[in-house]
Amino acid sequence: MTFTTRFAPSPTGPLHLGHAYSAMLAYDMAMAKGGRFLLRIEDIDQSRARPAWEAQIYEDLSWLGLSWPQPVMRQSDRLPRYRAALEQLTAMGLTYPCSCNRADIEAAAGAPQEGVPQFGPDGRIYPGTCRGRGPDETTGQDVLRLNMEKAARTAELRSFTETGADFAGTYTLDPEQLISTVGDIILVRRNMGSSYHLSVVTDDADQKITHAVRAADLREATQIHVLLQSLLGLPTPIYHHHHLIRDDTGKRLAKRDDARAIAKYRAEGTSPQDIREMLGLPLLSG
Ligand code: GLU
Repeated sequence: MTFTTRFAPSPTGPLHLGHAYSAMLAYDMAMAKGGRFLLRIEDIDQSRARPAWEAQIYEDLSWLGLSWPQPVMRQSDRLPRYRAALEQLTAMGLTYPCSCNRADIEAAAGAPQEGVPQFGPDGRIYPGTCRGRGPDETTGQDVLRLNMEKAARTAELRSFTETGADFAGTYTLDPEQLISTVGDIILVRRNMGSSYHLSVVTDDADQKITHAVRAADLREATQIHVLLQSLLGLPTPIYHHHHLIRDDTGKRLAKRDDARAIAKYRAEGTSPQDIREMLGLPLLSG
């Protein structure tokens, strides 16, 4: 299989140095193996995605010296694909509609108990209020959740490999950990037709990604992705989670850190080679 990496930004703000690092690392890894570097626009959240940010992504990445095959995959074009994946999980009896809002979940979660985690990689661990509902008992306004207890016990316990320096090793899905520290994740968000987790696993499979290169903040979500791959019969790529790029005070960069926006460096006369140097990436020859 061709060594294939991807960069998968959401067009909800300017790309900053952390994005530049992810994209250039994924590009360099693919080029070093004579492989492919793909771009994917993660725009399922149409309330936040903007065409202007998408245009800026293409401009910033080209300026950094990266190129990628056309056409670019865009999640907003793929809702039927996500629906098919969801139907597969529903046919296995693993999904249910949930009408709880944030306040309902807070109230049902009750007081924190010692040793019981409250938050997982998908946010607050869902207390299970709607778990008894059948897939058709929906009001039309619901999110759809995965019944983790059932899913983790149904799935083949897949192993996956991490190559990022901080996490290198082979890991195996742990049903007890998924149930107690992840819980019933959302598969379809309100007004979105999908969720980050469901989209990313179908997209990585359809783009034949062999190496998913991304920042360490998504590391904890990887067990969710491998579980979904296992349930859906999709391949598991090798994961390469790289360290977070932080600002001078040690804080991780976020979309709102416009000061670290690639476009800003560019406007100030910084060169792409300077950016590589700042990030500790090898300079491109030629
Ligand atoms: N769209 C995600 C982000 O912008 C990245 C998803 C991934 O690499 O799996 O953070």
